[in-house]
Amino acid sequence: MTVNLLDFDLEGLAAWCEALGEKRFRAVQLFRWIHQKGAGNFAEMSDLARSLRAKLHERAEVRALPVLSEQRSLDGTVKWLFDVGGGNAVETVFIPEDDRGTLCVSSQAGCAVGCRFCSTGHQGFSRNLGTGEVVAQLWYAEHRLRAQLGLAAGERAIDNVVMMGMGEPLQNYAALVPALRTFLEDHGYGLSRRRVTVSTSGVVPMIDRLREDCPVALAVSLHAPDDALRESLVPLNRKYPIAELLGACERYLAAAPRDFITFEYCMLAGVNDTDAHAHALLRLTQGQGPAGERWPRVPCKFNLIPFNPFPASGLVRSPRDRVTAFAAILQNAGIVTTVRKTRGDDIDAACGQLAGEVLDRTQAAERLARRRVLPMVAAGRLHSPRSVA
Ligand code: SAH
Ligand code: SF4
Repeated sequence: MTVNLLDFDLEGLAAWCEALGEKRFRAVQLFRWIHQKGAGNFAEMSDLARSLRAKLHERAEVRALPVLSEQRSLDGTVKWLFDVGGGNAVETVFIPEDDRGTLCVSSQAGCAVGCRFCSTGHQGFSRNLGTGEVVAQLWYAEHRLRAQLGLAAGERAIDNVVMMGMGEPLQNYAALVPALRTFLEDHGYGLSRRRVTVSTSGVVPMIDRLREDCPVALAVSLHAPDDALRESLVPLNRKYPIAELLGACERYLAAAPRDFITFEYCMLAGVNDTDAHAHALLRLTQGQGPAGERWPRVPCKFNLIPFNPFPASGLVRSPRDRVTAFAAILQNAGIVTTVRKTRGDDIDAACGQLAGEVLDRTQAAERLARRRVLPMVAAGRLHSPRSVA
C-alpha cells in the first residue's frame, strides 16, 4: 500500500523524505504543493526533480476522501459528505461569514461519549479517523472553495477551523495533533492558533496534553452548572467531574493562545435553561460550586447553542425568549455571551444534526454511490477539488 502524504505533518514528511535520501527542503516544497496549491498528483509538481517524482509516484499518493455529496444552503453554508469506507461517512461544513470563513471538521465516524442531545452520540462509535482523513477535509474544502469562488493565488477561503463536526477530537488524540500542526504550519494552511479551535466534552488528561503539544483555542462543552445534571447529559462527566474539568481549563490557559475558554451550552427546554441554571453558571464563573465549594475560577465566554432537534432525542429546543433571558443574566454580570446562529438549517448542517442524517444518508448515499458516484470517483472526477462542477 502506498503512503498517504496527507498523514504527515511537516516534520513527519521531512523524516519520510530523508529516509528516501531526499533533503529537508524537498519536503517543504512537496508540502507546499499539496497544502498550499492543492496538488493531488506528482506530475504537476514541476519544480521537483524528475527522479523524486518517480519515487513519489511509486511509493506515495495524496489520498483524498471520496465525496458522496455536496449540498449548499440558501445562506451559503456548504456541507460535504465524505465516504470513509466500511459504510461510514463523515460530514464537513463550511460556514461563510462577512469577514471570514469557518470550516467545521469531523474527527471520528460516530462518537463514544454518547451525549443525550447529540445525534452523533446516538449513532454510537464506528472508528477514529486517521490524520490524513482529518486533513483531507480541509484540503478538499479549501481548494474546492478557492476554485468555486475564483479566488486569486494566495487568497484563502477558510481562515478558521473548528473541530466541532462528528466525534470527540480528544478521544482521537494521536491523529488530531499532526492534523492541527498541518493546519497551523506556515508552509501548510498557515492558520493562526487563535483561529483553530478544539471543542471537547471534557477529556481532562488530553486537555493537559494538548496544552503541552499543540495549544490552540479551546472550547469546552459544559451544558450544565452542576455534576448531577451534567452527568445526565454528558456521560463522560462521571469520569471527569466539573471541578476537575475547570482545573484542566485553568492550567490550559497558561499556554493557550487566547486568555479565555469558550464554554458551549446547548439550550434544552426545561432541562438546563432556567434562570436558576444561569445564576448557578454565574457562580461557577466566580469559582463557586453548587454547595458553595471552591472551584477553579476560569476566565470564560459563553456560547449558547439552541438545541437542534432530531427524532430520537426526546428533547426540545428552548424557546427564543428563554435563550434571550438566559443570555441576559450572564451578560448583565459582565460575561461575554453569544447565541449561536443556526446556519445551514435547510441542509441539516447545524450542530449535532450531523450523524442521524449520516446514518440515513449513508445508506441512501451508498445506494447512490453504487449507481452514480463511485464510477465518477473511479474516473477521478470527484477526487480533484479544483474541478468546478
Ligand atoms: N465532541 C466535541 C465536538 C463535537 S460537538 C464536543 O462535544 O464538544 C460540537 C458542539 O455541538 C458541542 O458543543 C456539542 O455539545 C454541540 N451539539 C451536539 N449536539 C447538538 C445538538 N443536537 N444541538 C445543538 N448543539 C449540539
Ligand atoms: Fe460526542 Fe460531542 Fe456529540 Fe457528545 S456532543 S456525543 S462528545 S460529538
